[in-house]
Amino acid sequence: MRPRKIPLRKCVACQEMMPKKELIRIVRTPDEQILIDLTGKKSGRGAYLCGKVSCFKLAKKSKALDRALKQPVSPEIYDQLEQEFIRVEDDFNAAKDAVNDDDS
Ligand SMILES: [Zn+2]
Repeated sequence: MRPRKIPLRKCVACQEMMPKKELIRIVRTPDEQILIDLTGKKSGRGAYLCGKVSCFKLAKKSKALDRALKQPVSPEIYDQLEQEFIRVEDDFNAAKDAVNDDDS
């Protein structure tokens, strides 16, 4: 058996370490927009959340994104992101199940 490195990231809401692929990335772009980044490739400061709405709600409640992104996030932005999070959650989980082999 060959050991493989799985990049781990911490969910900013529940503080659990998870493989990067199982997390949804929120990014603060250089022009200060806060977006959900499903590709994981957008530039900017990123924060990771489990692909669960419950974790998003927790992050919203504890303002975890403000801390992770080092920028105040207004309640409107949290609401917007929450709507989007709910929309992408199904796709995200479906894609996760579809890709079983590791990309290197
Ligand atoms: Zn979490």
